[in-house]
Amino acid sequence: MNTKMFEDFHLNEAILRAIRDEGYRQPTDIQGAAIPEILSGKDVMATAQTGTGKTAAFCLPMLHMLHRGKGDAGHGPRALVLTPTRELALQIESSLRAYGRYLPLKTSVVVGGVSITGQIHSLRQKPEIVVATPGRLLDLMRQKQVTLAEIQFLVLDEADRMLDLGFIHDVRSIVSRIPAARQTLLFSATLSPEIAALASDMLKNPVFVATAPPASIAAKIDQKVLFVDQANKGSLLVDILKSSGVQRALVFTRTKHRADRLTRHLSRNGISAGAIHSNKSQNGRQRSLAAFDKGRIMVLVATDIMARGIDVEGISHVINYELPNDAENYVHRIGRTARAGATGIALSFCDASEVEMLKGIERFIRCELPATEEHAFHSTAAASLRNPSPRPAQWRSFGPRGRFGRRSGRV
Ligand code: AMP
Repeated sequence: MNTKMFEDFHLNEAILRAIRDEGYRQPTDIQGAAIPEILSGKDVMATAQTGTGKTAAFCLPMLHMLHRGKGDAGHGPRALVLTPTRELALQIESSLRAYGRYLPLKTSVVVGGVSITGQIHSLRQKPEIVVATPGRLLDLMRQKQVTLAEIQFLVLDEADRMLDLGFIHDVRSIVSRIPAARQTLLFSATLSPEIAALASDMLKNPVFVATAPPASIAAKIDQKVLFVDQANKGSLLVDILKSSGVQRALVFTRTKHRADRLTRHLSRNGISAGAIHSNKSQNGRQRSLAAFDKGRIMVLVATDIMARGIDVEGISHVINYELPNDAENYVHRIGRTARAGATGIALSFCDASEVEMLKGIERFIRCELPATEEHAFHSTAAASLRNPSPRPAQWRSFGPRGRFGRRSGRV
């Protein structure tokens, strides 16, 4: 447990004031571990999930150091934050705006899917910080609208997701244009061999900072699995959403098509819902997120790509309408509830075809998810696949020891 206070880091008073405005009382574990290392100028490789306060862990020291070195400013940006998704980039920008509200530092966001003209205009205002997704940044570099020659800080956020999404070549090409004399911070939810290789290429003598493994993140989330046949999932979801206790629910599907169909199903049943996935325009996604954030819709239906970009407070329930193929995504999905110390409920619907996925998730989080039968659509068929019932007594003599192996045990 971290016992430090933000004041212990000797951050600029303007930043401390902004943190107080945000209502943060104490650094989170990742902040307590990473901020002093970053302030001392070291490269940092941090494994931290979203929801642990990792954004502030790099934004606060970065703002402090950029402000202190303001006299060095030339024409180009001094800090670059690379992120895998547009949503995450926009959230980092809004965090930077909040934490830097009393500092004269400018930030530009450079992301695909929206007009490039406004971004070119913003870059001409000489921002100190650029938050970018790799593809659009490369476009702007090719058009000579931005130079990275003065970058002192490079942050690679959610580096594992960047690799998953195939951005590695873009990232390497961007990093090759940044001066070697820089401070590099790499954040990743997991430490795979690929991430370790990336870190060894891009970081110099990094300090390793790790926070609690996924299993303990999940500890403050009340997780349950509900066995249900595929055909009954829609009705079960409506039942749950109409029950009291659900304030704001984030529902996950594996496909965009299913997300859209489910959203229509909920609307037909009088439940206000919106969908967010990569086929929606950037504006459409922002509209749905804002409606969810402001409480105009109760349910947001999302796909996995979107999971990490959703930072909405007060999500009481995360519902896995379909289990994720990738066990790690389970942790990212349920991490959208129980943000920053709150508690939350995560319900996973599991049909017969998903039992193997459930077992994969349980291996990954190193605990068995409790099942609940307290609903109208319990599927004993699916449940029995998880824990096959013992063979009937007359079969027992055919066990591994042969037909007669346990004969003496029979009555
Ligand atoms: P992140 O892991 O960066 O996505 O942050 C998750 C949430 O925690 C965000 O809503 C932050 O505003 C919030 N947060 C970050 N640091 C703190 C802190 N020290 N105390 C309370 N909330 C925090």
